[in-house]
Amino acid sequence: MRIEILCTGDELLTGLTLDSNGAFLQTCLLERLGLRVSRSTVVGDERGELVGALREAAARAQVLVVSGGLGPTADDLTVACAAQAAGLPLAYSADIFQSIEARAQRLGFRLTEAAKKQAWIPQGARYVLNRVGSAPMVHLRMASCEVFLLPGVPREFRAFVEGALLGWLEECLLPSTPPLLPSPSPPAEGRMFRKLRRLQCMGLPESLIDEAMAPIAAAFPAVRVGFRVRFPAVEVKLLCEAGTVEALAQLEGGVVAAARKALGVAVFGEGEEGLGEGLVDLLLERGQTVGVAESCTGGQVAAELTARPGASRCMLGSAVAYTAKAKRLWVGLSEEALGVHGEVSAETTRLLAQGVRERLETDWGLAITGYAGGGRVASPPPPPEEQAGLFFIACMGPRGVLREARVFWPGARKEVQRMAAAQALNLLRLCLLEAGEG
Ligand code: ATP
Ligand code: MG
Repeated sequence: MRIEILCTGDELLTGLTLDSNGAFLQTCLLERLGLRVSRSTVVGDERGELVGALREAAARAQVLVVSGGLGPTADDLTVACAAQAAGLPLAYSADIFQSIEARAQRLGFRLTEAAKKQAWIPQGARYVLNRVGSAPMVHLRMASCEVFLLPGVPREFRAFVEGALLGWLEECLLPSTPPLLPSPSPPAEGRMFRKLRRLQCMGLPESLIDEAMAPIAAAFPAVRVGFRVRFPAVEVKLLCEAGTVEALAQLEGGVVAAARKALGVAVFGEGEEGLGEGLVDLLLERGQTVGVAESCTGGQVAAELTARPGASRCMLGSAVAYTAKAKRLWVGLSEEALGVHGEVSAETTRLLAQGVRERLETDWGLAITGYAGGGRVASPPPPPEEQAGLFFIACMGPRGVLREARVFWPGARKEVQRMAAAQALNLLRLCLLEAGEG
């Protein structure tokens, strides 16, 4: 089956917007249906260009998915151009109008005259109402091509792809069930299903990850193994391909399990999952709690630890103890200790971890101090023990568990802060894994 995508919008031709709708559809087609897009075209908001592109694509393809230009504004031309290209008049749909009107009422805004044009679609075309926006998805036939017009707003586009388009295509591809709508043609041979799995790693440099993954890559030739720094983590990419859904599932399961085994505790999550999210899961699983005292990270450790719903049951609070005064008043450090150990040191960090654990009565106390840097170049330069990028982490836990780290990671201020927060979270994660379930 030849599938094409046509994306419309001046913003896609001027570098203002990247075509994420096309990428999303391509990924869905490969992952769910094993279908590859034959061609993807981009045109601006110009009537002649759009009609021409629609006619050309519809003459080549059996399925054409069009993104964008369904809105109410003057530059939204797709429906009218599709009608023109198909040689059909526009017809009014009271049903579409009602759904648009009801939405406007729900959201409390007045429906403009221009917005009413969204209720006009090519005569005889089918449509699916929009649950997340206003313009419906329109489905018409041009010559022997099934043409689907989808809104350009990415969340609306995605909702239609997942909620309607993939289902329709699947119906066409299943030989046993007769399709709801006339099928364009029998499916072509050689479908190839594809899925990208991404493991997030922390604590191992890329070179060691590469070394650990070499035997896995050799054992799974159908998987393309790649690496990418996804600061502050390193991502291992496993691109799996197989001829059937079942074979793909087996391949994915096998390679992910093997990679996790090879990489051990370095893997903290999958896909978009962050360190904080996995930590919340771990703490909740164990029914344990944590309190944080942070200085150089300015609250980033806490922000990460609250990324998952339910975090309040395990993350009891964080003191952004940025100054000596805050360290004294909020975490209970004595003037004396601060005088002896200073604001940034292994000892002070340990006392902060202990202090916050005691005050919040948590299982774990996590603390970090350091020099984020990025200010004016000091003259004379600071001694090595006060250099920007130097930070100390301490994690205190049940039964006297103490784990500490001294890290020197120089860089731009924001990067140092992100790296410091990630290292602190990772230290807590390692403590939890080491302490086990108990
Ligand atoms: P609207 O009702 O908002 O006018 P529409 O269906 O007319 O929706 P467009 O006007 O083409 O769609 O685009 C709406 C928004 O979606 C714009 O912000 C645009 O940048 C974005 N967009 C359009 N096409 C794409 C695409 N291919 N990839 C990512 N974003 C897109
Ligand atoms: Mg628009």
